[in-house]
Amino acid sequence: MAQTQPRDNLLLAALSPQTRRALEPDLTPIRQKLQQVLNSPGSPGDIVFPRTSVISVLTQTGDGQSVENAVVGYEGVFAVDGGATNVKGLVLAEGLAWGMSRAAFERHEDNHEFRAAVSLFEHQLLAFTCQSCVCQAFHTAEQRLARWLLEMRDRVLEDELSLTQEFLASMLGVHRPTVTIAARILQAADMIHYRYGRVTIVDRDALEEACCECYSMLPRPGAGSGLR
Ligand SMILES: [Zn+2]
Repeated sequence: MAQTQPRDNLLLAALSPQTRRALEPDLTPIRQKLQQVLNSPGSPGDIVFPRTSVISVLTQTGDGQSVENAVVGYEGVFAVDGGATNVKGLVLAEGLAWGMSRAAFERHEDNHEFRAAVSLFEHQLLAFTCQSCVCQAFHTAEQRLARWLLEMRDRVLEDELSLTQEFLASMLGVHRPTVTIAARILQAADMIHYRYGRVTIVDRDALEEACCECYSMLPRPGAGSGLR
């Protein structure tokens, strides 16, 4: 199992030194806990730039069920909407992040470079969300599970993931037996090893072949950064 390396947020790291220096006073180091829900404003992390943490962007129904729209890791930014919509964040992998208050974020939106970087990521997030809609409508559970595991692996940069089947079912918006069958299929093909709430990706290339085209339709985080 690879060790989690301390790393910066790529969106922030790509900014010019001048812009980064202007943001620094408003960036607070925060540690995000596993399964922490991000839906209330006013914390230091109204706006979250993950470093080693990974956030699921979920839409919730009135009776508390939810389905995942996208995943945000060290490549991007997540904004807590404060109850304006049914979208919330859920921490999938605990770790470090930079937090910024909404007031500071709005101040820095005057910075063209920062605004452009955030806007570019928002477009990527919209593409991710649209792709997830297609995925949920047309692709099989094992294709979607393979895709989800690869998306996670690309953001935690580890082959071993701590995940219960119940949690996986909730992320994929399917019943738990469906995840059990899908995981068995991938395990029987020696792509993953699943045991006691821990999934190990054994053959990443085979897993990529097993997943739907949705995975290759989206840019992979860290492309060109040497952190893949
Ligand atoms: Zn798909």
